[in-house]
Amino acid sequence: MYRYAELIRQRGLFDEVIEGYWKEEPSLRQVLKTTASTDVTVIPMFISEGYFTETVIPREMGLGHQGPVPPEGVARVIGGRTVRYTLPYGVHPSMTDVILERAREVLPDASPHDTALIVLGHGTTRNENSNKVVYQNADRIRESGQFAEVQALFLDENPKVGTWPETVRSPRVVVVPFFASEGWHTLETIPEDMGLTGTVTDFPDNPHGHQQVFYAKPVGTHAAVADVILHLAEEARGAGGAGGDTERGHEAAWQAFLKAARAGLRVGEVLVTPELGVFELRNALDEGVPGGDLTTLVTPEGVRDQVRFTDGGEHRPVHTLRNLPRGWRSVLSEADLRRAMHYLYPAVIEETYAHACHALRPTPWATTARRQTGIYAKVQKATPEQVEHVARDVCSGCLRTRLWAGQRLTHSFLDGVPGGIPCAEACTFVVAEVREEVSGKRGGGHS
Ligand code: SF4
Repeated sequence: MYRYAELIRQRGLFDEVIEGYWKEEPSLRQVLKTTASTDVTVIPMFISEGYFTETVIPREMGLGHQGPVPPEGVARVIGGRTVRYTLPYGVHPSMTDVILERAREVLPDASPHDTALIVLGHGTTRNENSNKVVYQNADRIRESGQFAEVQALFLDENPKVGTWPETVRSPRVVVVPFFASEGWHTLETIPEDMGLTGTVTDFPDNPHGHQQVFYAKPVGTHAAVADVILHLAEEARGAGGAGGDTERGHEAAWQAFLKAARAGLRVGEVLVTPELGVFELRNALDEGVPGGDLTTLVTPEGVRDQVRFTDGGEHRPVHTLRNLPRGWRSVLSEADLRRAMHYLYPAVIEETYAHACHALRPTPWATTARRQTGIYAKVQKATPEQVEHVARDVCSGCLRTRLWAGQRLTHSFLDGVPGGIPCAEACTFVVAEVREEVSGKRGGGHS
């Protein structure tokens, strides 16, 4: 995700390129607030349509849409922003080019006389769409006549990948996994089912004679996916072209923060110190430590990578949990300070400013619970005592004040109280913990 965002950012076509996540911050609930623009295109980074693209993302982002997304996408006005939601990148026709790129990487001289192509999908009867996309790509490539044969095979359903020696006749066979990323399937199950031992494997005694298999990397990690994302964004904007403005509430929040930063302030666990036109960020616990004893980071991305894990190496899905790693400092321009703060505390500046302006509406637990589907639907059964038990345990380690549970926040870091940060809605981390509690799987205290 970071890599694609960076590739697109480098093209300079958009004012902002922001990543959002379901299970970490900036969360799908918050991410729209973190953009300065009034014209936003949302591209789901999924290889196929399904539960996440049709239910979870639209629901969490408040798009007021559920079910299959039409080819032209869905457009809504949310909180003064025009939000365009597209199909996932994997179903775009230009993924065919990515498959061909992957094939060329392992076999540059593939020929229509002696080379077969296998487009390999996961295949699951629960998601017909993912199979459809694999067949469509195989059809398009077959029609182009670049290979002697083109087959769509699947890991989990017929025609299964293990049957390839009976059905594929060509002496050279390129296999391209139509998968989002490198993982268990691409590294283990596919090679095992096909009998592959490396990028190139010889099969001297197959039913159709000697065959050589060239195993490509998955399509989802190819840099050309950035172009597919751009195609989607372009199509979503349609005839209207590039539009949008700066969102006024967002800009006001950042101006309030920058004004405070120019005087020096503490936000949560971070100390912001102005220094001759630049700003230094560090963990407040490292206050007074000589700069030479700390790792100096000079880019917002450096800060982002530094704060993704605790000092103990644990992932930090919620950035306001009090576990910011120590031992680093960052020196940044004013423009970079904004981006670094976005990575350090996603949506915190926007939400805190909105709270100060009485414009942050809390979402009570019952509403959050009602919204949950799939394996999380069972949180609706949680008693108020169970929710409070989890929240006391988890949220006590968090800087935020739970407005969603009726707590009050009178001062914030904008007026000198470093830990004054509102929490308008239970985060996905707490929702997941409540689910564990209801299932009786939750152990002792959370640290
Ligand atoms: Fe922090 Fe609790 Fe809010 Fe999650 S729900 S952000 S842990 S206060």
